[in-house]
Amino acid sequence: MRWELADKALHSDFRRRVEELSGQNLGECYQCGKCTGGCPVLADIELSPNRVIRMIQLGLEEDVLTNESIWCCTACGTCNGRCPMGVDIVRILDTVRLLSQRSKYRPGALEVLTFYQAFLNCIRHFGRLNEIGLMGSYNINSGRLLTNMVKAPWFFMKGKISLSPHKIRRIERLERVFARIEEIEGK
Ligand code: SF4
Ligand code: SF4
Repeated sequence: MRWELADKALHSDFRRRVEELSGQNLGECYQCGKCTGGCPVLADIELSPNRVIRMIQLGLEEDVLTNESIWCCTACGTCNGRCPMGVDIVRILDTVRLLSQRSKYRPGALEVLTFYQAFLNCIRHFGRLNEIGLMGSYNINSGRLLTNMVKAPWFFMKGKISLSPHKIRRIERLERVFARIEEIEGK
């Protein structure tokens, strides 16, 4: 795919916002490609990590924020370990995912975002993963009502999932952690 460099894009404040939120200086990246060379999901993504950084440098906000590649990162950290300039690429990708959620654009991989939200809601309410809660929340919010339903009876029979979720003790402490994160993110 080709991306057009419009005058508007080159002067956008997208790069500045990514740098501010991630605490990274994108000018440090000189496009050596070492980060991309070790990325385990490279075969499945359109935008490699170094390409994402280049596009942010150029101010291509919409093209970055709407691309599903930014949602495929597993946060394994291989890219960070390989970067000769110490650029925190994982943090940059976290930042563009956050900006994607806040932006007027539709995130490129809504299902991944829905899964993240279902997972976090589960942790927030129970303090641990509850498979039924996760499955129910994801299936309803993604519109994929039958996802994993075929396997559910087998999981029940084997005792892998339970209908009565357990809550951790002192869940209110966890609520304070979530509240603090929301405060930091400026929600
Ligand atoms: S952290 Fe993400 S971008 Fe970096 S190597 Fe792992 S999967 Fe690829
Ligand atoms: S390894 Fe570092 S300097 Fe090289 S392209 Fe990736 S982010 Fe840029």
